[in-house]
Amino acid sequence: MADRDGVIWYDGKLVPWREATTHVLTHTLHYGMGVFEGVRAYETSRGAALFRLQDHTKRLLRSAHILGMKLPFGHDELNEAQRAVVRENKLSSCYLRPMAFYGSGKLGVAPPENDVHVIVAAWPWGAYLGSEGLEKGIRVKTSSFTRHHVNVTMCKAKANGNYMNSILANTEATRDGYEEALLLDVEGYVAEGSGENIFLVRDGKLYTPDLTSCLDGITRNTIFHLAAELGLPVIEKRITRDEVYIADEAFFTGTAAEVTPIRELDGRQIGAGGRGPITERLQAMYFACVKGEDERRADWLTLA
Ligand code: PMP
Repeated sequence: MADRDGVIWYDGKLVPWREATTHVLTHTLHYGMGVFEGVRAYETSRGAALFRLQDHTKRLLRSAHILGMKLPFGHDELNEAQRAVVRENKLSSCYLRPMAFYGSGKLGVAPPENDVHVIVAAWPWGAYLGSEGLEKGIRVKTSSFTRHHVNVTMCKAKANGNYMNSILANTEATRDGYEEALLLDVEGYVAEGSGENIFLVRDGKLYTPDLTSCLDGITRNTIFHLAAELGLPVIEKRITRDEVYIADEAFFTGTAAEVTPIRELDGRQIGAGGRGPITERLQAMYFACVKGEDERRADWLTLA
C-alpha cells in the first residue's frame, strides 16, 4: 500500500503518497488509540460522488469525542479534505480512509493530547466480500471471539483498537474457509460481522440487532430508509444465532461490504441458500442510490 502514486491529505496538506509517513514511536501505533472512517465514492453521471459524506464525518467526530480526542480540524475541513483526495487523485470511484491518530510527542499510556494528526487516503477498491459474494451470497461462521463488551471498548466509536477483535475473528473464519465471521456479544446474542452489520428477513419483516454491541452503521441506516420505502418493517432486537439459521434471508451491510447476502451460517443453509428476493431488491435500491440513479436520494451524495 505504501508504494503508490497519488496524494494523501496529511494535516491540511496534500503530500505525495510515498512521503505520507510517521515515526515508529507514534502513540497510536503502540496502543491503538485512534479513530477512523471508511467512506466510498461512486461514479455517477455528474462525476465521482461521496456517499453520505456528512454522516461519515459526523461519526468520525463523535468517535473522537467518545475517546476524548481533540481533532485539530472541524467538520467542514474534513469534508473538504475527503473531496480533495478524490479529485486530486482523479478517482472516479474509490474507498476513502480518514483517520486521526496521536503522534510521537510522548509514549506513556496517557496520550500526547495536543499531538493529534489527521490523514485521508483514497484508492480504488472493488467489492469487499467479492463480486460473486454480492450475487450469490457468502458463507459465514460464528466466531469463537466475542464482540466487545460495552464497558471494555466503546462500540459507538469507530476506533482503531476495536479492530484487533475484528481481525482475530475475520482471520479465524477465513483460515477455516469461510468468507466472514459473525460475532456474538458477551451474552451470546448476535452482534455484527467483523466489519458489517447484519440483517435477517423473516416472514416479510427485517430484523437487526439493536445497537448495544455493534457499530451504528451508515449502511444499516440506509437500509432502514429503503425498507420503509418498500413498506417493510424493521425490528431492532436481540437476535440468537439459531434465528439466523432459520431466517428466510440474511445479509451484511457496510460501506465496504455494501449489501452482501449471507447464504450459509455454521454449515446451515439460510433460506434457499443464495441471494433472497428481498435482499436482491434492497441491494439494487442501494446501488441505485450510491450511483446517483435515484434522484430522490440525491442529498446523500456529495460531488468530489
Ligand atoms: N460494524 C463494523 C464493526 C464495521 O467496521 C462497519 C464498517 N464501518 C460496519 C459495522 C458498517 O458500518 P457502515 O455501514 O457505516 O460502513
